[in-house]
Amino acid sequence: MSAAYCSIIDRLRETHALSEEGYLSLMQCSDAAVLDYLRQSADEVRRSVYGTTIYVRGLIEFTNYCKNDCLYCGIRRSNRCAERFRLEEADILGCAEAGYRLGFRTFVLQGGEDPYFDDKKVIDLVSALRKTYPDCAITLSIGEKPRESYQAYFDAGADRYLLRHETASAEHYGRLHPPELSLRHRMECLEALKEIGYQVGCGFMVGSPYQTPQHIVQDLKFVEAFRPHMVGIGPFIPHKDTPFGSFEAGSAQETIKLLSIIRLMLPNVLLPATTALGTIAGDGREKGILAGANVIMPNLSPPDARKKYMLYNDKLSAGEEAAEHLLELKRSMVAIGYEIVTDRGDYKG
Ligand code: SAH
Repeated sequence: MSAAYCSIIDRLRETHALSEEGYLSLMQCSDAAVLDYLRQSADEVRRSVYGTTIYVRGLIEFTNYCKNDCLYCGIRRSNRCAERFRLEEADILGCAEAGYRLGFRTFVLQGGEDPYFDDKKVIDLVSALRKTYPDCAITLSIGEKPRESYQAYFDAGADRYLLRHETASAEHYGRLHPPELSLRHRMECLEALKEIGYQVGCGFMVGSPYQTPQHIVQDLKFVEAFRPHMVGIGPFIPHKDTPFGSFEAGSAQETIKLLSIIRLMLPNVLLPATTALGTIAGDGREKGILAGANVIMPNLSPPDARKKYMLYNDKLSAGEEAAEHLLELKRSMVAIGYEIVTDRGDYKG
């Protein structure tokens, strides 16, 4: 194996940072021995912080109405073919109850930016969950809101917030989003969430249209500087009824490489092997875990909602993606040497 690559990986592991050139050369390397060393280093680092435990989060996709029009996303407002749904509070609490019985101690509420769920509804929902499940973490992933709203959700009992930055290049952001959305505003939201005291997750798609290796380097430099508690990355997968319907999907291998790089950069980070990674490659989730990921987010939504929350073509929601099959998931993790635990799974740091 090339000593130069080996020393770049060691430097990242020791200093948790690289120059732009360093990241670029790792991204451009396809030498199997180097990639293996990267993966192994990331796995060692993650074991030193989290051992062999995998945290699970129960994902409740509660609305696919969205006022935004992100060009990649299957639930964008212009997609007239999307069958819309929203769950009422009682349904959402029912999902949480089923999840709690299965052992989930983190609930992730994700949705489009649906004006029906105004602050009062979100606050009522978070308060009800907080009161019923004082021992659980509540994660929100409902997009860009005013700072006061984020503060009010936090005060009602939300602990964590996922808001992928999508791409750290303003120029690239502009090609993935309509003009009314800006990277600057997305970043302001991320800063506000962090200041309020949330455990915050940023993240990006791998292989999104027009993405270059330089864009990925910018993403990595942003993650390095922002120091999030969580990073969500998954391959871009086209959705047939969007303007990006005929673009190619991102690569599983590149996603896995990025999981390892991010683990070395942020040893304590909570890093999911995402549904998109499991969708693009049959063994994607396992490979992600072996490369440094330590979180899996099975789906707790009612089956009908799952089918309609179609962010991209063929999004997985059955089998081990389904919360009710937690036992199968547990077995598949044991088979590769890891174990699922069902506590809150907070950030260690
Ligand atoms: N409205 C929320 C949740 C968005 S959906 C928000 O704005 O944060 C969650 C994530 O799915 C997005 O952040 C995006 O990165 C990802 N996603 C959307 N469309 C996708 C696609 N076609 N392929 C892969 N990931 C996609």
